[in-house]
Amino acid sequence: MASTMGKVVFVAPLCLVISRFMYNAHAKSVQPEPSIRIGIIGGGIGGSSCSYFLHELFGAKASIDVYEPSDIGGRIATVDIGGHTYESGASIIHPGNMYMKKFTKEFGLKHKDKIPGQKMGFYDGEKFVFLESDWVIATYAKMLWHYGWDLIKFRREIGVFVEKFSRIYDSQKKGVAYSSVEGIMNTIGGNEVVDYTKVPFLKALKDRGYKDVIIDEMMAIATRVNYGQSVNMSAFAGFVSVAGIQGGLFSVHGGNNQVCSQLLQKSRANIIKSTIKGVKLDTESATPGYYLTIAANENSNSTFHTSERYDIIVIATPLHEGKSNISFEGFPKKITNFPGRFHRTVATFVDGELNTASFGFKNMSGCPNQILTTKDNQFKINSIAHNLPIDCKVGNKESQKPVWKVFSKEPLSEKQLYALFASRKEMKVVDWLAYPHYDPQNSLPKFELHDQLYYINGIEWAASAIEMLIVGSRNTALLAYNKYNGLNDMIDVDFNQKTEL
Ligand SMILES: Cc1cc2nc3c(=O)[nH]c(=O)nc-3n(C[C@H](O)[C@H](O)[C@H](O)COP(=O)(O)OP(=O)(O)OC[C@H]3O[C@@H](n4cnc5c(N)ncnc54)[C@H](O)[C@@H]3O)c2cc1C
Repeated sequence: MASTMGKVVFVAPLCLVISRFMYNAHAKSVQPEPSIRIGIIGGGIGGSSCSYFLHELFGAKASIDVYEPSDIGGRIATVDIGGHTYESGASIIHPGNMYMKKFTKEFGLKHKDKIPGQKMGFYDGEKFVFLESDWVIATYAKMLWHYGWDLIKFRREIGVFVEKFSRIYDSQKKGVAYSSVEGIMNTIGGNEVVDYTKVPFLKALKDRGYKDVIIDEMMAIATRVNYGQSVNMSAFAGFVSVAGIQGGLFSVHGGNNQVCSQLLQKSRANIIKSTIKGVKLDTESATPGYYLTIAANENSNSTFHTSERYDIIVIATPLHEGKSNISFEGFPKKITNFPGRFHRTVATFVDGELNTASFGFKNMSGCPNQILTTKDNQFKINSIAHNLPIDCKVGNKESQKPVWKVFSKEPLSEKQLYALFASRKEMKVVDWLAYPHYDPQNSLPKFELHDQLYYINGIEWAASAIEMLIVGSRNTALLAYNKYNGLNDMIDVDFNQKTEL
């Protein structure tokens, strides 16, 4: 080592002149050729953020191909109605979501303006059990009167939950990766949080001594509006859904899906507009590798499928029934269907007027424009709320045009629409196979499906949210990197025990 250093010092000035000249003359030729090929299936937030983190870790050594047949963003999507554009999928981001905060700042994106005039009401199918006041202090006092000490206790508890969640950022910053979702849950809060994925939210709330009124109203609303489910869902997803009805939530001005496009751009990924049909293990080569079967171009008449070889594959789309239909071939242990099912949520957008009489009001004066339901009701909806365009601005009235967004389990019938709306100028329906059905009996899939074949969306079975998928994608990138470089002591570390990292 020392003698080599001596030689380097001696010849350095001449080398420097020559290499500078060569760099200027042939800038491209001195760039190292990428030696690792990475294929990512899916260009939603999971795939795009994984591409970003993989580029950060492997640098120019890796070339990344992202396969996405549809729009970049996946379930972060928009819909055009009434001359404006609205979020149709993932719309809100929690202020404790450190990765989303970092990305919006790094990419120079702004938060969407908050426009006053939103009024919330909790509806039980017959009446409003809680109505927001025009003054924040009065609303808080009303809530305190209605829910008592449980309100303060629950706010504090969510604060602790969010703080615990941030432990995963520390562990990822230090380069630790987990082969299973349970490893991440354990880092967040030990066995207690691992158990949250296995017990019903209702039980966790009752064990903590919460009264029926807050469970039946506020907690039920959070699970219905955010996941179309009930307090019988698993507790971890329950806590995530409750965090999603807190203050300080934001969206990205101009659309949340800009984050995905920016992540892909920064990672210099090649975006390939194709569907992946299957993953096949390369059994011929001495080095591990996989072939992706790429569907024939959908716009041509050809049915010819091509295939590409990669050293690392990341699956960034749910593998559950009806979601991505990817087959696996040649693996010593079968990679088959994953248990559990995805939940259907229909988002109906209406440019029109609410039938306020159906909710007991003569007109919009006094009637809430954010109606959140506590239980199944005659309208068969989870919520109906005023939605503002992705580019609304304070001071620009035209940009603040609201449309109604209804969340329901099934498409709304003409009879239901008639009951909900006094008039309809335009309507758009987005039918989502949205997120897992959170049965506490579900097992959590692993990130690692084979040596260098990874599955980000396993993390959705703890909770599906933008930030969860980014946490899962960084974990996947770290796992791939650590394994590729033999950094086994950075995999499946009990972060709670190993403080010297
Ligand atoms: C209605 C709704 C509201 C939501 N609200 C929120 C919210 O307010 N806040 C929040 O944080 N989260 C919310 N979520 C959840 C959030 O949207 C998801 O957790 C997250 O976007 C999932 O990202 P993903 O990249 O894992 O998957 P997706 O976004 O589903 O991306 C997967 C991509 O893979 C592509 N793909 C599928 N199969 C193949 C194939 N064979 N080959 C190639 N590509 C393929 C798909 O086209 C898709 O673009 C909501 C979800 C829905 C549906």
